Amino acid sequence: MIKTERILHLKSCRGRKVRVVREHYLRERVPCYSSVCQADCVNDGKVLPGDLTHYVVPDVGVVVDYLEILEDRELQGVVFTQTACQAVQHSKGRRQYNRLRNLLKDPRHDCVLFANEFQEYSYCPREKGESQEKWQTRCVYSAAVWYYNHLAGMMDVVMITEDQEAVAQYSSLNSGVYVISVQDYLQNFWPQLQAAHDLYGSISQALQEKESEGNEREFSEHLPAEVLEAGIKSGRYIQGTLNVNKHRAQTEAFITMEDLSNKNTDMSCGVLVYGDKNRNRAMQGDMVVVELLPKSEWRGKVTALTEGQGDEKSGEDESKPLPTGRVVGILQRHWRDYVVTFPPREGSQSQSRNSQRILAVPWDRRIPKIRISTQQADALQDHRVVVRIDSWESTSLYPNGHSVRVLGRAGELETEVQTILIENCIHVPPFSDAQVREDVCPSKTEPHIHVGRRDLRESHLVFSIDPKGCEDVDDTLSVRSLAGGKLLELGVHIADVTHFVTEGSLTDLEARTRATTYYLADRRYDMLPAVLSADLCSLLGGVDRYAMSVLWELDAHTLAVNKVWFGRTIIRSAYQLHYELAQAILNGEPTEVPELAQLGSEEKDTKLAQLTQALEMLTHVARHLRAQRDRGGALELEGVEVRAQLDEERNITALVPRQPLEVHETVAECMIYANHWVARKIQETFPHQALLRRHPPPRQEFFNLLVESAKARGFTIDTRSNKALADSLDQAVDPEDPLVNRLLRMMTTQAMSEALYFSTGTQSIDQYYHYGLALDRYTHFTSPIRRYADIVVHRLLTVAIAMEGEVGPVKALASNKELEEMAQHINKKNRAAKRAQKLSTELFQCLYFKERDPQTDQRCVADAVIYSIRDDAVLTLPVFSPRYGVKGPVYLKNREGQVVAAGHDGSCEWQSGSVRRYPDHITTASSCGSSTFRLFDHITVRISVHSTHCHADRINLEVISNRPYHSTEPQQPRSQGRCQLVQEVVRLAEEAHQQAQEKAARRPKLSREEREFCQSKTPNLYSLLEEIREEALRDLNMVPQVCATTA
Ligand SMILES: [Zn+2]
Repeated sequence: MIKTERILHLKSCRGRKVRVVREHYLRERVPCYSSVCQADCVNDGKVLPGDLTHYVVPDVGVVVDYLEILEDRELQGVVFTQTACQAVQHSKGRRQYNRLRNLLKDPRHDCVLFANEFQEYSYCPREKGESQEKWQTRCVYSAAVWYYNHLAGMMDVVMITEDQEAVAQYSSLNSGVYVISVQDYLQNFWPQLQAAHDLYGSISQALQEKESEGNEREFSEHLPAEVLEAGIKSGRYIQGTLNVNKHRAQTEAFITMEDLSNKNTDMSCGVLVYGDKNRNRAMQGDMVVVELLPKSEWRGKVTALTEGQGDEKSGEDESKPLPTGRVVGILQRHWRDYVVTFPPREGSQSQSRNSQRILAVPWDRRIPKIRISTQQADALQDHRVVVRIDSWESTSLYPNGHSVRVLGRAGELETEVQTILIENCIHVPPFSDAQVREDVCPSKTEPHIHVGRRDLRESHLVFSIDPKGCEDVDDTLSVRSLAGGKLLELGVHIADVTHFVTEGSLTDLEARTRATTYYLADRRYDMLPAVLSADLCSLLGGVDRYAMSVLWELDAHTLAVNKVWFGRTIIRSAYQLHYELAQAILNGEPTEVPELAQLGSEEKDTKLAQLTQALEMLTHVARHLRAQRDRGGALELEGVEVRAQLDEERNITALVPRQPLEVHETVAECMIYANHWVARKIQETFPHQALLRRHPPPRQEFFNLLVESAKARGFTIDTRSNKALADSLDQAVDPEDPLVNRLLRMMTTQAMSEALYFSTGTQSIDQYYHYGLALDRYTHFTSPIRRYADIVVHRLLTVAIAMEGEVGPVKALASNKELEEMAQHINKKNRAAKRAQKLSTELFQCLYFKERDPQTDQRCVADAVIYSIRDDAVLTLPVFSPRYGVKGPVYLKNREGQVVAAGHDGSCEWQSGSVRRYPDHITTASSCGSSTFRLFDHITVRISVHSTHCHADRINLEVISNRPYHSTEPQQPRSQGRCQLVQEVVRLAEEAHQQAQEKAARRPKLSREEREFCQSKTPNLYSLLEEIREEALRDLNMVPQVCATTA
């Protein structure tokens, strides 16, 4: 080892120059992390594959400015030098440096770190008079040459740099080591990687523009971090998260504080930040620091909404003044990828003749316009584009950004679906080849290794009950009588996903990132590759499968639990039933069980009797369990979103009266029971580090709407406890109109808190309670194919079982802190999944109604129910139309001051008049008399679409009669509406897509040689599997939404 001294001239983020002298040790052996290493390097961890055409070594400038391109997972064999990484750390700050470190850690990215400055033969000391940049470039080049020699010339090495002098100087020095520009590299090696090309274009454009920035100040400077910290400590400043009011995005934002223990009750509803100067470049979600303004400058928030909301008018109603402040600094930016729309080019857009700067409008109304420099301004008109923000200087009215990728033309189905995904930070790239190879690894699939597994194949009659056509069967059941009928044994057997998905494997990382399967209106994105979810893990009928089982031994008479057994098993499901079939068997109706079709009549009868008996026993147990929970106060709720996941009718989020079969509840009850007992087990074994799910009781004030609405109809809702609430909801039934009870349950759902995953160490035991299910402990164990939480729980349970002594060494568990971080991540992803599902449903509604003329098309007219009279100055009636599941306000007063007046036949028109609001109804008075709109009245609405081009379209409802809607057409089954709606929109989009494809087919394809420059030489195993998956998606009607319960 050689010791030298190294002098660093660093420039800190704040611009100070620092001179640092460090001792520097050089070694001969520094790992190369290449699988073609000839020198026996100690290559722990990630290594670069050997079957590539070259490795690529980016220069410092490339890593600093173009890291995003290197983040593309298709680029393989990337060697990051220590020189480049340190440069990122020093010049770009922690955020960017962490991104680079995460990239290096993530096994899904094929890149490694080479400690070139510790390698004796690649290190070059800085020469006198040599500029830092030149020296760094020389270091990186020297590292590239070292690689080529170290790998004995078996791998070509390409250094990429934006320094043209370096290209001239180095490119011909060594054969096998190429030095080229980023653009040349992409063009020669990755001609088909359009995303990378686009990104290169937009980043280099943005870099050029940056140099020509003006210097007139538009905002005050942010205070330095030390000053902010001291100010927060002394109480002069307040720290919080900025939330922009989406109806008044230009002017109104609130700071919400995490720490509500703040004694100042004035602040409990947050601090208002009014206007963009006070907001001082802070954006939605940023962690900011505010200073309160003097009381004389406090303002209220604007409360009135009128038709065409969003346009600000002065002189509207304001609430009483709130604490009002201005942003003095930003602790943490919450920048993400944004979808923007490039507006039509108008004279006013370009500031000068040569300027390519465009003010793009973000899809999210809360985000300010973003200035993008591009040469494609014309081509991108009317397109939705993903952009990233680079900076927002105090001299600039708008943030500066660059485009990342073009999604497509605004308004097209695929563009809009992608927009929804990106806006919710949902990344669902295709599963990689490496992942799929890992999943079908034979050592995991060979069925002869059952060590430590209990074999239930002969002893237990196991069956599954799912919606028709369900492929990913993650739960099965068994029930049998023991000890001559004195005991009953109930069994729940769940797919043993963690047997196949090893912790830390590529598949595991991807599943963890996704955290859940995403269900949109017309498609789904699986958490696990199809080879696992629909085959290896899926508990299909007639084949041997691994399971995680819970077996309860119950007293046959009292059904009290004697014993519980948890463990790994091997099962063979005898019947794959669907709900309708199971219910028919229970009802004693004549049925055809497919598994028995081939048998002789005697054998068939025996087997059917066996199955019937098992189903009856199961129903008996489930009834008992349900009654037990009912006594504790379990709630049965209904809601648009909740129903969407529970739907077995093969509609997407159909909010139609469903005739629930008892067998639905039976299965759900057994799953709830298993989840509960597993929760108890892991909580008892790991009091501080188990993953549970809690459902906090709702805040009483959220029930006001529910209580008032019910009262208007003569019902009393008691919200003092979940039990009282459940009982009073059961009572609130209007025999004339079943919709009333459903609407009340919908309102109850809306008042509920969100159920959350958490680590047991972060909460006191009394906080573990699940309010909705009335259970003291709960978790998710029964759907590991669709939810990552269940995978975590399976792993915890496995360790808990192992700790009981019999099997093997115990693995280190995640700490309380790590587990809580995981819980937060899953909670966040679940929220995103829910929002995306809701947005996609609204998208389909809009696409459907956009195609029709609301004035002439009868399908645009529907029945709706008034479900609330809001307690504010808003003259709107929230209504709900069950046929299409559409919810929204109707306006009773317009801009011109006219009101809705109903004639003798109920038909409505705009007339000048006045409006009065009462607790349970609104009346309008005009020259033709007065009209009344009561809570729960059925009215007729016309549905149209309000298009906004840059944002999501919105459904617009207009009251056309204050009487119920009577269709002139024969009434179609109500449940059909939503289903057809989705089908039709998909059909139209497919036609458009086909036309576009035909057009694209005429374009020249890439030559074979061009394609062979790509780095991966292995055949694409994935594409084959993906095709199969896509087949399944297309046939969505056959693939039900979610088979199990939510809760
Ligand atoms: Zn090596």
